[in-house]
Amino acid sequence: MTGKVYLIGAGPGDPELLTLKAHRLLTQADVVLYDRLVGKEIISLIPDTAEKMYVGKAKSLHSLPQEEINTLLASKAKEGNMVVRLKGGDPFIFGRGGEELEELIEEGVPFEVVPGVTAAAGCAAYAGIPLTHRDYAQSVRFLTGHLKDGTTDLPWDELVHPAQTLVIYMGLTGLKEISESLIKFGMKPTMPVAIVEKGTTKEQRVFTSTINKVYDVAMQNEAKSPALLIIGEVVTLQNKLEWYGKY
Ligand code: SAH
Repeated sequence: MTGKVYLIGAGPGDPELLTLKAHRLLTQADVVLYDRLVGKEIISLIPDTAEKMYVGKAKSLHSLPQEEINTLLASKAKEGNMVVRLKGGDPFIFGRGGEELEELIEEGVPFEVVPGVTAAAGCAAYAGIPLTHRDYAQSVRFLTGHLKDGTTDLPWDELVHPAQTLVIYMGLTGLKEISESLIKFGMKPTMPVAIVEKGTTKEQRVFTSTINKVYDVAMQNEAKSPALLIIGEVVTLQNKLEWYGKY
């Protein structure tokens, strides 16, 4: 009998941001394949009886290529296992969840998808930055700063739009280019920016600055991945609404 694959979002870090469904399935799993971004506290919820497999991230050294992860998921399920594929944040937001499911369909393996709190929602909440606000932003746009071919070639002119918040995932490596391009395409140099490092975890750090200074601020503070960029007037609210670690 073929088992099933559960593609599950683990949220951005704080284990209490797991959904009840994710938690239940995790404790029932036979096999769990997880990524670099899933924290130790969440991994410790997996029962000892389950086989835990770290499959890493394509950019790191100790990781399996995406095709092998896809094949492994299918083969573990075909052995009759209940397989959990655990990903940081939400599996359908910059998580390659779609690619993994396509392979399962080809192999005839049944699956379910459990959404997770994506980094944008988690980091914004824990940093005290509402992504929309009637006075500042009526839309929010999620982008990746790291394209498949390694470049950061974003639709710049569309990003310099009033009353829009930009949330950039994987934006630290290309930060210099991103900030310079936004200014070049018309963003005001004093546009507020926040860098949220390890958001929702006990090590969370938040650096606020402006788009013309953000690269220097990142350098001075040695900002590290995983980090999210939030760009827009809403960032000015952080000063007032900051709560995490404060009360
Ligand atoms: N599927 C994930 C995103 C994976 S891409 C999600 O929905 O959140 C990886 C990028 O997500 C990182 O480079 C970083 O930009 C962001 N990210 C994930 N977890 C984060 C965290 N705890 N704090 C800050 N950024 C995070």
